[in-house]
Amino acid sequence: MSNLILRQFNNKIHRIRNTLLSSSSIQKRHLNLLEFQSKKLLDEAGVAIQKFRVLESSNDKNTLSDFNVKEYVVKAQILAGGRGKGHFDNGFKGGVHLTKDKQEVFELVNKMLGHKLITKQTPKEGIPVKKVMVADSVNIVRETYFCIILDREHNGPVIICSPDGGIDIEKVAEETPDRVKTVAVDVIKGLSNETALDLAEFLQFKGNLKEKAAYEIKKLYELFNKVDATQIEINPLAETDDGRVIAVDAKLNFDDNAQFRQRPIFDMDDTSESDPKEVEAQKYNLNYISMQGGNIGCMVNGAGLAMGTMDIIKLHGGEPANFLDVGGGANEEQVLKAFHIITSDKNVKAILVNVFGGIVNCATIANGIIKASKSINLSVPLIVRLEGNNVEAAKKLLKDSGLNIQTAEDLDDAAKKAVAAIK
Ligand code: GDP
Ligand code: MG
Repeated sequence: MSNLILRQFNNKIHRIRNTLLSSSSIQKRHLNLLEFQSKKLLDEAGVAIQKFRVLESSNDKNTLSDFNVKEYVVKAQILAGGRGKGHFDNGFKGGVHLTKDKQEVFELVNKMLGHKLITKQTPKEGIPVKKVMVADSVNIVRETYFCIILDREHNGPVIICSPDGGIDIEKVAEETPDRVKTVAVDVIKGLSNETALDLAEFLQFKGNLKEKAAYEIKKLYELFNKVDATQIEINPLAETDDGRVIAVDAKLNFDDNAQFRQRPIFDMDDTSESDPKEVEAQKYNLNYISMQGGNIGCMVNGAGLAMGTMDIIKLHGGEPANFLDVGGGANEEQVLKAFHIITSDKNVKAILVNVFGGIVNCATIANGIIKASKSINLSVPLIVRLEGNNVEAAKKLLKDSGLNIQTAEDLDDAAKKAVAAIK
């Protein structure tokens, strides 16, 4: 395939996948970093941040033993914003606190760690706090909003900024749209000095602060490209009383497709808040998507086929419990792992395999299925529909295996059999 066609093909798959993942009942985890992890990246890129330490226990006096500053800011680390205005399940108010007293830092940390922080952006019950950032507080004169986001409409990065930061940007955009500026950046030309200065001016940085802000903006843009970000949001990008421009808060998102070249960043992923089945699947380069309320476990290759499979199962009165997408180049080990993961979901009462062999060889899938059925002593009905590359050999393998596997002629037949197997 030529590069162009390959790219178009990939885009199409990406679109299908996004459609699939954004449909209400399906959730895929994207890489999410805590504030302190994002700030590490900012720091490495030369963006001005506050010095900080991270505590995981209020008994940990060592971490702060040589951290002496005039005023501390203590911040709960969770994968959600709005912490400042949030509250804890123990009644304690605010996920961001200032204090000049080091002893009080430990008291604040103690009130945060192990408790759930509830904010506008968290689930109702909140998110447990496992880490707390203690940073060198800055005296903020003004808070601005700055964000770079990869935008489909503009086919590239777009900068959205406002001199009114620290608050909900959606609200600013709605109530005072002239206070929000949106500038598309040409990826080839990059972000010019002139544009950076214009933006700094719009953000109302005056005198030599304008140059400082433009410098930060350019560094942020460099970082955006370097780490394959899809979003960098700095809210607030603050002006301090000692004439500095500082990224006080940071939220970064990344392009999942760039994982292979952004290993160290993706390795920072904290998976403790997510479904272990998803985490396990990721380890083997499989996509696991769990659905609510269903009982048919599905192994497919490709998001398009997943969507088709879901539709036809539903058409015949069934509900999928999950999807395990083994992707284009699945090997036997991955298929084996896929079965382990699907069957570890106790809602699964039947398994439907729907694989279209294009790049993948159907016989490889068949061998994986046979090994899996034997090794896990499969106790639920298994319906297999294979089509495409080397399908005849695959069918023979399944038949000769002596295992209780129902083969299906086409997707419709497979879905009917799966639904019938449960009833
Ligand atoms: P968020 O509430 O999750 O968005 O967390 P932020 O890091 O944005 O903090 C919330 C607010 O706390 C900011 O908008 C600031 O007004 C304030 N804040 C955060 N860090 C500092 C600091 O170092 N010094 C001062 N004075 N205020 C801070
Ligand atoms: Mg913020």
